[in-house]
Amino acid sequence: MHSGYVMNCFKSIKFSRRLYCSLKAAQKIGEYDVAIVGGGIIGTSTARELLLAYPKLRVVLLEKEKELGLHQTANNSGVIHAGIYYKPGSLKAKLCVQGSKLTMDHCDKKKIPYKKVGKLIVATDEEEVKYLKVLYERGLSNGVQGLEFIDTQEKIHEREPECRGLKAIWSPNTAIVDYKHLAKSHADDFHDGGGEIRLRAKVAKIEESGRSDFPVRVVDSKDHTLVAKYVLTCAGLYSDKISMLTGCPRNPRIVPFRGEYLLLKPSKRKMVKCNIYPVPNPKLPFLGVHFTPRMDGNVWLGPNAVLAFQREGYSYFDINPLELIDALTYSGFITLCLKNLRYGMGEMLRSIIWPLQVKQLQKYLPSITSEDCERGPAGVRAQALAPDGSLLEDFYFDKSKMGNLKDRVLHCRNCPSPGATSSMAIAKMLVEKMGKEFGLEKIHEEIKTKLKQ
Ligand SMILES: Cc1cc2nc3c(=O)[nH]c(=O)nc-3n(C[C@H](O)[C@H](O)[C@H](O)COP(=O)(O)OP(=O)(O)OC[C@H]3O[C@@H](n4cnc5c(N)ncnc54)[C@H](O)[C@@H]3O)c2cc1C
Repeated sequence: MHSGYVMNCFKSIKFSRRLYCSLKAAQKIGEYDVAIVGGGIIGTSTARELLLAYPKLRVVLLEKEKELGLHQTANNSGVIHAGIYYKPGSLKAKLCVQGSKLTMDHCDKKKIPYKKVGKLIVATDEEEVKYLKVLYERGLSNGVQGLEFIDTQEKIHEREPECRGLKAIWSPNTAIVDYKHLAKSHADDFHDGGGEIRLRAKVAKIEESGRSDFPVRVVDSKDHTLVAKYVLTCAGLYSDKISMLTGCPRNPRIVPFRGEYLLLKPSKRKMVKCNIYPVPNPKLPFLGVHFTPRMDGNVWLGPNAVLAFQREGYSYFDINPLELIDALTYSGFITLCLKNLRYGMGEMLRSIIWPLQVKQLQKYLPSITSEDCERGPAGVRAQALAPDGSLLEDFYFDKSKMGNLKDRVLHCRNCPSPGATSSMAIAKMLVEKMGKEFGLEKIHEEIKTKLKQ
């Protein structure tokens, strides 16, 4: 009798808890024209652009962290690239050149600090000189303004007194900015324009709602639910996982590569005035350390590229066994490693014994020593890899494939560097795409008419 009474009490507590939770969840249900998942630089700039184009739309931005822009947006080199490297005609080339201009114009307008410190791409042997010439031609074809081919060591010295090299490209319009600051400014504009931002909202499901007016249901990990007409996802390191929620293929898969930086000690910062970059290896374009002055006066050296043991793992101690196994057993990663074993081992070694990384830096700045440097921060790249081990270099978008969700959910699956530079151009392109394919113009007109009545 006594134990039955206790059991009943437990049951009723459990029931009340469930009731309370579902009431709380119901409170959170909202109806939106568009829900955007991911509050990095891509999500925030697109949210802002969407309300600039269609101010009456009801738009919500969902971010799993307690702050916006905490991942790739905050942990990158902070360079506004000019658009030199990328294949003419590629989306990357077009969006980088456009994005760089849009970003600087926007910073001027909003008084967001940035600095045009310029950039030297330095060739240190004859092989690199050949590719440097290709890069120079690419830059010109891409419409990058102000490029100069520097053909003597003396002229390199004039730009950067401590730097050594055979030949170089000088890009005066390459700049630096704090992208987290920029993302915050976009989010403020979005919020001021009537957009809603939900933090600590980790999207766990995107499914059919069964409603004809708002066919998509988005559920977060705390069971908070909203319904929307359309969804855009910009989930960075989880972009493949989020795409899979709506029936998209598992591949190309995101493999997280941590990029660790060294810092130049404060007394040595004057050694570096502009960005100094190597000539990239065309097969592994994201490898190769560079020197980057920061908005806060620091100088970052790096990054390297080692497998992160967790998608958002910023040190060797951040380990997620499932995510690690997912990467290690993926044919794309295995093939990439086998093809580039020497590079990979070298990167690991330099990561553990960081003074070895200084040796690479000495190629460009012979006077730098490990006493001038210390360990610095790290960022994690969302590297999309095809099953055959090839890196997906260009930006890549995909649409939902499932039942009534087909064509209602758009995913940004690959936004590698220079994704931050290109973000404002990507935002314009996405809004145009959503405008056409989601019929946003019509929805917007309907809302305007309703509001007038
Ligand atoms: C080391 C490094 C250096 C780089 N240097 C440069 C550079 O100098 N210049 C440049 O232009 N680009 C650079 N990049 C690239 C640039 O940082 C990225 O292209 C850009 O930040 C991508 O932005 P994003 O919004 O797609 O990703 P993120 O900034 O990673 O944002 C994705 C957001 O989605 C959120 N999210 C994920 N899953 C969920 C979920 N389930 N629910 C809700 N929210 C979710 C995350 O919390 C995150 O805030 C660099 C990148 C790295 C890693």
